[in-house]
Amino acid sequence: MSLDDERFARMLHLASKTTPVNQAFSPPIVNTSVYALPGDPGGAYQYARWGNPTWTALEASLSALEEAETITFPSGMAAIAAIFTSVLKPGDRVLLPSDGYYTTRICADKYLAPIGVRVDTVATAQLGAHKLAGYRLVLIETPSNPALDLADIAANVERAHAVGALVAVDNTTMTPLGQRPLDLGADFVVSADTKALNGHSDVLFGHVSSRSDELIAGVRDWRRIVGSIPGPFEAWLVHRGLETLEVRFSRMCANALVLAQRLAGHRKVVGVRYPGLPSHPAHSLAQAQMASFGALIGLTLADKEAAERFIGACRFIRPATSFGGVHTSAERRARWGDQVAEGFIRLSVGCEPTEVLWREVERALNE
Ligand SMILES: *Cc1c(COP(=O)(O)O)cnc(C)c1O
Repeated sequence: MSLDDERFARMLHLASKTTPVNQAFSPPIVNTSVYALPGDPGGAYQYARWGNPTWTALEASLSALEEAETITFPSGMAAIAAIFTSVLKPGDRVLLPSDGYYTTRICADKYLAPIGVRVDTVATAQLGAHKLAGYRLVLIETPSNPALDLADIAANVERAHAVGALVAVDNTTMTPLGQRPLDLGADFVVSADTKALNGHSDVLFGHVSSRSDELIAGVRDWRRIVGSIPGPFEAWLVHRGLETLEVRFSRMCANALVLAQRLAGHRKVVGVRYPGLPSHPAHSLAQAQMASFGALIGLTLADKEAAERFIGACRFIRPATSFGGVHTSAERRARWGDQVAEGFIRLSVGCEPTEVLWREVERALNE
């Protein structure tokens, strides 16, 4: 696989030949709660909790890229919750990654377990050895975050389907360009577009895609009924961000590979975790499953002081949580209680010129 994907070019040109003469190519931001609706109700836009032309434009692009019907949400968590609530019933069992996005587990413990859904967890690298019989839904997040462990999507989908379980993949870190869970058989893909997909660190957003009419209808109904709907301006911003995803993500991943390789040989570095390095325990799976190796690097320095000093000294690192933006950013994950060394840094590599970024990272490490 590679990032050189015709789907992206097709997405960019979805409306190139169908936009009426004298109409803007740029989609309008439609701020409304109501639509003209005389007589018997009908048509695409009846009430704005059900639909909005600015969402429709973005969803058409995301659907083209995912090759699957797509429903957008006001955050990544809203998108994950929509899968949970539309699929799971009391008595069902759900399997979550123990090393995936923390709030996903909190959401399940706080809102699913009390209504009789059994919530189990397993480490991403151990998923292949975990029995899947009895589960209604298996959620995979690969690479995991921040340890960047991998799970084999195709193999686990096959095992899950053999016992009647559905599989959802949280593809936030890789975006639809870097990894294609639906092509590998997953029933749902979910993404926090807050991260690399929008990429400009200026909006929270999410989407769910599925090639099953029934499953995506459940997600659409959930949004329409509970009103977990994106704002038109946020949808417009994400649409604008999405159009440069390929150039941004290519640069970020290329930068990350260069940095990971060079960091691994630096005397001040205790460890480097990156799926694109042969030293990664699942490097061959990464080569087969991912179109690129992503923009996140797990970097371990000697201790907390060394890590904080490095983040503070590097002029081209923003100290921030979250990741996937055009600006390189970093944080020590132990500050959130993650089970990692005190000197472990999650480095989210951005779009800075490659050699400029490396020289500054090297200078800050040596300082
Ligand atoms: C950030 C993130 C989420 C949640 O997204 P929000 O937009 O913050 O709600 C979910 N999954 C992963 C993997 C994330 O990184």
